[in-house]
Amino acid sequence: MFSETPIGQPRIRRILERIRTSGRLPHALLFWGPEGTGKTSAAIELARSLHCDRGETGACGECAPCGRTGTLGHADFNVIVPAMRKTKDAELRRVAEEAVSDPYGYPMPDEGTSVVVERLREAVKEFTLGSFEGGWRTMVFLDAHRIRPESANILLKTLEEPPEQSLMILTAPAPERLLPTIVSRCQALAFPPVSRTELKAHLTSLTSVSETVAEYAADASGGSLRRAIALTGEDVAGLQARASRFLEALVTGREAHTFLALEQLASDKQEVFDVLQAAEIWLADTLRFRQRGEAAFAPEAPRIQTLRELSSLFDEKLIDTAAREIERIRDMSLRNINLQVSLVSMWRTLQRAV
Ligand SMILES: [Zn+2]
Repeated sequence: MFSETPIGQPRIRRILERIRTSGRLPHALLFWGPEGTGKTSAAIELARSLHCDRGETGACGECAPCGRTGTLGHADFNVIVPAMRKTKDAELRRVAEEAVSDPYGYPMPDEGTSVVVERLREAVKEFTLGSFEGGWRTMVFLDAHRIRPESANILLKTLEEPPEQSLMILTAPAPERLLPTIVSRCQALAFPPVSRTELKAHLTSLTSVSETVAEYAADASGGSLRRAIALTGEDVAGLQARASRFLEALVTGREAHTFLALEQLASDKQEVFDVLQAAEIWLADTLRFRQRGEAAFAPEAPRIQTLRELSSLFDEKLIDTAAREIERIRDMSLRNINLQVSLVSMWRTLQRAV
């Protein structure tokens, strides 16, 4: 239902409802924005609502057509996911089914996957035939930026001459990732990062998530609900401890020891970003601790102890330098600069600033 989907995006939910009830749906929509902002969830919900017996406010999830779209068993509803060429059809279908049932948790396609041209041709051909059941024909195309340019023509023809009563929804991180000829034929809707308040509210509504973990995950997810949910399953206390040790080592560690630790850290890219993210939150909290004291924090002994230690090592200026360095590493990593070099450079900069 649009009253719940996509999670934490009230403005998008209102727009979807307006699109759905306007009676003048475009033939093609492009939902774009960062990962975890609800594009998949929204695309699937809107498409399913068109097949639903009472879909004005979203897919009811209870009628017979909803039952069939919910398991990808509806002849007029299709979800396309990118895959490796060798991926079997059954596996592909399983991933698409998971995307429908768990849009924030289904396995994201690996880098290097694309939409195999034969599969694209087949799906588009079926789509152009229009509805089998006499209603809407819908197709949701997840990560459409992974279509190879040479296959894009197949899609382009259909976008130019869509069948009657049909809707195609594409999702992508940004319009620039698609060919302009495709973008120009879609009505685009931008999905912003989910706000911290919305993230925290959703996470705390999940019974298994504690307040502390919800807070950390909301802070560290960068507005991605997918990431935030994944973070709640991780050892948050362990990650926070690794991040505070990382910060301490940068300013007090023994030369050889710190170098080895950075070298080891750099070998795991995801761990680097997790640690940097957690370190960034420590720095923000340390600043708050220095300015407003212990009263600004809930009385959780272990965290307060770490903040005491960090604020004895990091003054305002050093906090600022460290935060800038973290930002710089993130920027550099987008340009594929060696992570170990970046981390060592951060360490040297902080050493000079101490
Ligand atoms: Zn329904």
